[in-house]
Amino acid sequence: MNAAVSALRPAPANAATQPALTDALRAAVGAKSAAALVLLREAVAEFGANATNGKLAFANSFGAEDMVLTDLILSNALPITVFSLDTGRLPAETYSLIGEVERHYGSKLEIYFPDAGAVETFVRSHGINAFYDSVELRKACCGVRKMEPLRRALAGRKAWITGLRAAQSVTRAGLPVRETDTANGLEKLNPLTDWTETEVWAYIRINEVPYNALHDQFYPSIGCAPCTRAIALGEDVRAGRWWWENPETKECGLHVKES
Ligand code: SF4
Repeated sequence: MNAAVSALRPAPANAATQPALTDALRAAVGAKSAAALVLLREAVAEFGANATNGKLAFANSFGAEDMVLTDLILSNALPITVFSLDTGRLPAETYSLIGEVERHYGSKLEIYFPDAGAVETFVRSHGINAFYDSVELRKACCGVRKMEPLRRALAGRKAWITGLRAAQSVTRAGLPVRETDTANGLEKLNPLTDWTETEVWAYIRINEVPYNALHDQFYPSIGCAPCTRAIALGEDVRAGRWWWENPETKECGLHVKES
């Protein structure tokens, strides 16, 4: 298309970040957030969490779903540890959001970093962008930058909370509200599993929750900068993650079930 014509064409509305807040949608979000809050409070009671040495933790990756859970936990002062993984390759917008979240809620997040020696060894052996070369090397990079720090973050916990939704991808279809994470040896709670993407964004708009600026640029799912791209209208919400791979391989290992 000629550049002049393309410049005249209005940018398509980003339906994910501009939900029409109808009464029905507000009611659905109100009911689902109340149910999620009940589940979180039951988890606090069951796992005896407290904010400083909590046995119950929430893994915050700063995606839209995770911002809903961050808001539910921190706005209600629930004694749940909120932690995040900094892989060292996050987009600048995610680092901005981390600071914004800490200011907005007046709360410091617990951030885990990869082992520096392991990253150095991996990069010297395979190259700085080895994840593009094969699925194996991509998974190895996720192993060093995400899985090992996650194991440390989960050590000593009884349960962890995620913002996963069943509708996010083929690898998450049928996701239960609660499951046993056999790989990490603890319970895993997915309070938003039955939420739609529209409900997630409606919650964010209604409650004025901070979110990643990349979402306004057609990034529905955001991970590390070199492994995430914007999606086109109609594409699967996870299509921008590891876009060079088949959908069946697209998990980083954080949420893979053992068979
Ligand atoms: S998402 Fe990409 S850069 Fe980040 S840990 Fe995985 S392979 Fe490495």
